[in-house]
Amino acid sequence: MIIDAHCHAGKGDLMTAPWNTDAPLTDYLRRACAAGINRTILMPAFHTDNWQANRQVAQIVARHPSRFIGFAFVHAKRDAGRIFRMVRHAVVRWGFRGIKVHGYEAMPTREVCETARALSLPVLVDVASRAETVDMFAPQYPMVNFIIAHLGSFTDSWKAHEQVIHQLARYPNVYADTSGVRQFDYLVRAVQIAGPRKLLFGSDGPWLHPGLELHKVKLLGLKPRDEALVLGGNISHLLRVASSARQLAPRVAGVGENDFVKTDNDDRQRELTGAGAKYRL
Ligand SMILES: [Zn+2]
Repeated sequence: MIIDAHCHAGKGDLMTAPWNTDAPLTDYLRRACAAGINRTILMPAFHTDNWQANRQVAQIVARHPSRFIGFAFVHAKRDAGRIFRMVRHAVVRWGFRGIKVHGYEAMPTREVCETARALSLPVLVDVASRAETVDMFAPQYPMVNFIIAHLGSFTDSWKAHEQVIHQLARYPNVYADTSGVRQFDYLVRAVQIAGPRKLLFGSDGPWLHPGLELHKVKLLGLKPRDEALVLGGNISHLLRVASSARQLAPRVAGVGENDFVKTDNDDRQRELTGAGAKYRL
């Protein structure tokens, strides 16, 4: 099972760059299918209203629930005060299974981390080359699993890659995805120093080609068992651990067992395709 742990979907509203304008999935799906990618974690494009952006992703996930897994995008500053409510809604009503935070907007705050801990969710965080922040939040929240996007830098900061590789080795709750990493030897070093259990295949689709990003992992020449971990085993494990924690402690932070029952298809479908629903795939 190959799982792309980092892909965007839906429309942004700023329209000043591809990542805040549109993340269309048609070409992505054709390319991912040709590359043998079975499942994909979807998160919104940049948007000034993350409720709206997450809802768009929820609509897409609801139409292909066996193909897609939703992660809720939150802006740690702009959404401050409502992050738990937003994410809880996404988990309970839409079946989302993680949180996405982008350091370009704001780094993870305690509110984000407390929400992740209370709802047992992994946090995919782009630290925007500021790898030193991982040394702040990771040890403060050892129960939260953090996935550091792009091995710490989408913009080729070798210093960030170096730091994150050692953070992967140092913190049991820190992982990294491979998306957009151009300096190949940092991926080699990440496996050598931190081990194959700490690296997750991600594409940063649809803007990057999922087949090309997947080929980078194949070029690492790992043992089949280790390659399988990077390509899907590790993210499956993280999602499974999080699901069991939620099921074991469903009443944590006000999430009752009955709330999860409400994620039945009829209910979800009504919410996503009813009058309030704005976008269609
Ligand atoms: Zn991304």
